[in-house]
Amino acid sequence: MKAIVATEDKKAKVVEKELRPLRYGEALLDMECCGVCHTDLHVKNQDFGDKTGVVLGHEGIGIVREVAEGVTTLKPGDRASVAWFFEGCGHCEYCTTGRETLCREVKNAGYTADGGMAQQCIVTADYAVKVPEGLDPMPASSITCAGVTTYKAIKESGVHPGEWLLISGLGGLGNLALQYAKNVFEAHVIAVDVNEGQLDFAREYGADLCVNPLDTDVAAFVQEKVGGAHAAVVTAVSKAAFNAAVGAVRAGGTVAAVGLPSESMDLSIPRLVLDGIRVVGSLVGTRKDLEEAFQFGAEGKVVPQCTPRSMEDINDIFDEMLEGKIRGRMVIDLKH
Ligand SMILES: [Zn+2]
Ligand SMILES: [Zn+2]
Repeated sequence: MKAIVATEDKKAKVVEKELRPLRYGEALLDMECCGVCHTDLHVKNQDFGDKTGVVLGHEGIGIVREVAEGVTTLKPGDRASVAWFFEGCGHCEYCTTGRETLCREVKNAGYTADGGMAQQCIVTADYAVKVPEGLDPMPASSITCAGVTTYKAIKESGVHPGEWLLISGLGGLGNLALQYAKNVFEAHVIAVDVNEGQLDFAREYGADLCVNPLDTDVAAFVQEKVGGAHAAVVTAVSKAAFNAAVGAVRAGGTVAAVGLPSESMDLSIPRLVLDGIRVVGSLVGTRKDLEEAFQFGAEGKVVPQCTPRSMEDINDIFDEMLEGKIRGRMVIDLKH
């Protein structure tokens, strides 16, 4: 089968690869498609260590071809996902208390386990979440990482219907955050982005207020307009965005961190203590979160923007990502 692997010289390459036989509890998927996420760029650039030879991809969707002994949750013909949270240990304090993505023994697809950018993929069946009827493979692929990550972050933000949620960064993650926020959580949304194109998109999708930090002081604007946001979800990969979000929430507000700039944010201790601000990190989502995020996709409440691409385009896609040219998600078509 053909697969996209990370190479020694920090590129991605399409290679011929032989799959090992299935082991107890595993399923074999014939892959349909796999979205390209910013994290794939980090993996192939060896930002998290040398992963030469690993099959990339954690926004994979495929159809079950075969299941090994011990599999009860999937059967041939089911559509299932290959997600960043590929497998947990199942018995640690995180796995047994609804926080399985924090498992210290976790395996991640396209990083510590072979991922979804291949014609076939072996998954641990109990951890591959089934895609519901009515959700096509392309949108499902985007929900497998970008969708569930933002859905979970909004949950962590604790925002309630009718409250103000600030979303910082309206790119691949943020545009899905906006749709979940409006159509599932029924929040009022303040969209923040340095890119006017992304803000136009946000307006089109129902953002109540749009702010560009290049010409407006976000914290001052939000405090003046609505008395501060009740919560914020930051997907922007910039320290300035995190600082602005802390400044923009009202007393008792929560800032959920999703974007991953490799730097520290400023955090005024008096602001934190006197105004009771919470800052929380949010990492992808559990299997249950993904099941819920898929279901809202199937109900048409969240519609990811996907562009099909071929396997051979992978390095071009990474270049486009670096140049900030990508709108929505580039999704590798693995069937043609
Ligand atoms: Zn991802
Ligand atoms: Zn565990």
